[in-house]
Amino acid sequence: MTLQDRLFADMADSAAITRAADAARAHVDAALTRRTYPDAAAIAALDTLEGPLGAGVETAAILDEMQATLRSATAEQLGGRYFGFVNGGVVPAALAARIMSDAWDQNTALAIMSPAAAKLEKIVEGWLNDIFGLPESAACGFVSGSSMAIFCGLVAGRWRLLQQSGWDVNAKGLNGAPALRVVAGREAHSAVLKALRLLGLGTDCIEWVPCDDQGRMIPEEAPMLDGRTLVLLQAGHVASGAFDPMESLIAEARAEGAWVHVDGAFGLWAAASPRFRHLTKGMARAHSFSADAHKTLNAPYDSGLVMATDAEALRRALSAAASYLPAGEGPRDGMAYTPEMSRRGRIFELWALLKYLGRDGVGELVELLCDRAAFFASELTAAGFHVPNDVVFNQVMAQCATDEETLAAMRGLQASGEAWAGPTDWPGPDGQTKAIRFSVCSWSTTEDDIRRTVAALAAARGS
Ligand SMILES: *Cc1c(COP(=O)(O)O)cnc(C)c1O
Repeated sequence: MTLQDRLFADMADSAAITRAADAARAHVDAALTRRTYPDAAAIAALDTLEGPLGAGVETAAILDEMQATLRSATAEQLGGRYFGFVNGGVVPAALAARIMSDAWDQNTALAIMSPAAAKLEKIVEGWLNDIFGLPESAACGFVSGSSMAIFCGLVAGRWRLLQQSGWDVNAKGLNGAPALRVVAGREAHSAVLKALRLLGLGTDCIEWVPCDDQGRMIPEEAPMLDGRTLVLLQAGHVASGAFDPMESLIAEARAEGAWVHVDGAFGLWAAASPRFRHLTKGMARAHSFSADAHKTLNAPYDSGLVMATDAEALRRALSAAASYLPAGEGPRDGMAYTPEMSRRGRIFELWALLKYLGRDGVGELVELLCDRAAFFASELTAAGFHVPNDVVFNQVMAQCATDEETLAAMRGLQASGEAWAGPTDWPGPDGQTKAIRFSVCSWSTTEDDIRRTVAALAAARGS
């Protein structure tokens, strides 16, 4: 059989697709009761996959191996007791839309390639502007995640600041360009620092602004801003959940011609909730924003958003064509707002997710996560753990009497398979201390999940 014959035979035989869909459904059915993290044996079994790429294998055998070896070594993020990093769960409607649209295999670079995707990107851009309280003219690029979105926001800012100085960075690059300044809080996320490295500015140029005991920038201690300054604010500290106060600094930046980017990977969504919107006060006047749909919104991976109120800067910085692409005329080419040309159709599941939740549902989801986080903090405290952060959003930390006890309890929790959370450093009165960080980031976390997690943690501590 030739390769093409083999491929046609596979295409005609829908068994593999049906089987994959059935396995996906069985996985979802088991997600709420499954171990949260694979045991050592399942991880060790991954070694059986090693070896040279041999002769081709039939689809059924590949799916078998995926079920037997790979699935067993996955973290269960759909369940309610995975609290690691800020990973988020998955809304079933979005997962279903992804599985369906994966079969369409759309390239969303140009409207002509996928009229359906181009239409949805335009529609969702409008919905997001409404959710985040941004002007209707703000533009959105649909990228892989916040790391890329932060980079895009800063690329747009770099373009605008240098253009204001009479320098075309697209043509001339950074060699010999007027020097740009960077102002960031001491507690900026590592993805922000990486973006500055990718941008060619590096991190040595950062003028650091001190933060308070919750990791919030102290705006009064920021240096004077000017028309060559990129200002980086944070909506949601990755350990404490705290938000930088934004209003005064953004007003000053506007007055001086500086560019403000808000890294709101998980926190930007606070703007959707009447109860938590106050955390983002003044934010809408910033120039660019980054957020993840795969975190707080519980979209499938990977789904990041870069938004800019200065839509022209975003387009000019990211368009591959040399000529200016006018806004609002004709279909929208997604690649004019992203670094990539070819991209998968992540817009299909994001559109489906927003349709499912509805306008109020986005805020309700945020409130669900934050209310669970507050419950988590009270359960931890009741069980004798110290919660070192003010729980203002969805992030909760826990500590024992010493760093050693904290890390031992965390390792015990991880090994139990009941729940999973990772470590973080957190400043104490006498220097850095260790804390266990819980991110309540899945719609499926219940109060019972939290009670079970706290009980497992207490058991791991030695009660
Ligand atoms: C997660 C996170 C990032 C990085 O986002 P990715 O989607 O993982 O690239 C950046 N900033 C903050 C505050 C985050 O929580």
